[in-house]
This record gives sequence, structure tokens and C-alpha cells, in this order.
Amino acid sequence: MTALADILRARIEDSGPIPLHDFMATALGHPEHGYYTTRDPLGAAGDFTTAPEISQMFGELVGLSLAEAWMDQGRPSPFALAELGPGRGTLMADILRATARVPGFAEAARLHLVETSPALRSEQARRLPGGTTWHDTASDLPDLPLFLVANEFFDALPVRQFQRAGDGWREALVDQDGATFIRRWSPPFAEDRLTHRLDDTRDGDIVEICPTLPGITAQIARRIAARGGAALIIDYGDWRSLGDTVQAVQDHAPVDPLTAPGRADITAHVDFEALAGAAAPARFTRLAPQGVFLERLGITDRAQRLAAGLAGDALESLIAAHRRLTAPQEMGSLFKVMGLYPDGAPPPAGLEP
Ligand code: SAH
Repeated sequence: MTALADILRARIEDSGPIPLHDFMATALGHPEHGYYTTRDPLGAAGDFTTAPEISQMFGELVGLSLAEAWMDQGRPSPFALAELGPGRGTLMADILRATARVPGFAEAARLHLVETSPALRSEQARRLPGGTTWHDTASDLPDLPLFLVANEFFDALPVRQFQRAGDGWREALVDQDGATFIRRWSPPFAEDRLTHRLDDTRDGDIVEICPTLPGITAQIARRIAARGGAALIIDYGDWRSLGDTVQAVQDHAPVDPLTAPGRADITAHVDFEALAGAAAPARFTRLAPQGVFLERLGITDRAQRLAAGLAGDALESLIAAHRRLTAPQEMGSLFKVMGLYPDGAPPPAGLEP
């Protein structure tokens, strides 16, 4: 058992079962023992791999979409080039390399990263240029035109889980049975924020709410509406949450989210309807599958150009990366992209209004 498991057990002993949301927040973000606090979880040696870690093509195309939005909006200078949850800094490094040839872009860009993990901040600092500013929350982003990307950031935010019971809802709680954490449901209660879900759910259905998602989205949307900019939000999820999507991985294999808190990555699908609902006063685009988004931005051309100089294993791995990012049975459909942009500007390249 982990130090974190002891802390959680003591809390449950003191005050009874805790909401799943609290369990997830502590497991991921505890200031001393949290999953993200203590480690670099990415890559082959870590627990999971993300699109920018699979291929440089992902970050290059994201960078070109942001740069095009910047040009469409009259090349504001200075502007904040920002990322939420930058992981190892790979995505931002690829964005910077791909946009280096866009005249004026690098000179006008001020790099701002929102990252809570000290371990990952130092990885990011190794890969990114000096002058980068780190923030703990999106509310600390500067008051500048904002061109932002968030890949697999919102899925790391803790969710509350509810199960329909008549006209009310039971909330998922974490209790203990001896040394084991178990999930149980609270007695039913009325939940105002779920009134609209009484229309499209049945008894026993599960829905999730991410309490911090609207506030973070609003921080970004407000800057984009007032100062200009664009945001690309990329994550797995769908329009409107339904079902239990809380899952955990350790060493690239699924594990029970309640075992070994602090050692496994715990995530939940992103509810893009909730994101769109918090996007005012900015506009939001239609949700695009990641594969469609990358194809529209020219990933196949880019892959062919990169392939020209390759043979053998290197060529095989390029082909595999292209497939992994775009094929419907891989990341192509499960992952979705939504853009935020200001009134009067076109939507970011690769997305539709
Ligand atoms: N975007 C990267 C990493 C995804 S992992 C990639 O695609 O490879 C999730 C990232 O979000 C990590 O950098 C993690 O430390 C960060 N993170 C998780 N919860 C956060 C929070 N509440 N505030 C800021 N950053 C957070």
C-alpha cells in the first residue's frame, strides 16, 4: 500500500466515505504524494503515451493551425502562446519548431505554461527556451491575445459521478473494506445541475460532472473574446457525458482506479457539451474527431514528405505513428478536437463553425 492510501484511509475513518472526486483529486494532485506531483508519467518507461509523444507531426500541425489563426487575426504582438498541462514539453517544442518559419510569430510569442507538477515543470524547462513563464492555474494567464492548446489536460481533472435514482441522483463515494477501497453510492438526493439530464437518462444510468472544467474554460474564453486568440482543446470524450468513464492505467495497462492511489494515472472522458456551455463570450467550433482534424491539416502530405528520407524500421514506425494518430480504431475517433475563437474571426484551421 502507498503513503497516499494511508492518508485516504485515515480520512475515511475520520469522516466516512469520500466523494470519488475527492479521491481522484488527492490521488493525482496531493502536494507530496500525488501521481502528477511525483513523476513523469509519459512515454515507454512511464504509464501512458500521448499524441505528441507518438509523433512530431501532431505538434507541427497543431502549431500551424495556431499560427494560421494568429495571421487571420492580424498578427497581434505580443501574444501569449500557452499550453495547459504540457507534460514533457514535447508538443510545445514541436509547435515552436514548426512555426519558426512563420514571419514574426516567434518574436511576438510569449510562452506561458499552466502546470502544477514540479517534476514535469523541470522536464519542460529542459526542452523549452528561456523566458518561459509557468502558472499554477489558467486564471494566472496574462491579459494578452491568447493562442492556446490543451492536449489530454481536461481528462486529468477530477469528476463527480452520479447515478440516476428516480427523479434524484446517488453520488459515487469511496469507502473501505478492510485494506481495500470500494465504490458505493450515496442515498439519493436532488441535484439542480442535473435537472436537464432527467430528460435523456433512465434509472441506473451514470453521468459525470467535472466541477473545475467550466471555470478553466471561462478563463480562456474571456481572454479570447476580449483580446483575440484561439484555443485547441484535444481530448478523449464526447458531446454530453453518459456512463462510467473513470479509468486508470499503470505501465500501459488498465487497472482499477481505486487500487494504488498515487501510482496509477486516473482520467475521465471530457464532456465537450460542458466545455461549449462555458465558452461564452467566445465562439466554439463543431467537435471534430482527431483523425479528421489532422487529415484536414495535411497529416498525410506531411507523413509522405517525412517518409521520403526514411527506410526500414524508421519508415515502419512513421507509418505506424500516422495510423495511430488518425485511424478510427486507434486515436482517430475516440479523441476529439474543439476550438474556441472570437466573434468575427474564422474558426481555427482544421475545424468548422
Ligand atoms: N499535454 C501533454 C501531457 C498530458 S498529461 C501531452 O499531450 O503529452 C496531463 C498534464 O496535465 C501533465 O502535464 C500534468 O502534470 C498536468 N496537470 C494535471 N492536472 C493539472 C492541473 N489541475 N493543473 C495544471 N496541470 C495539470
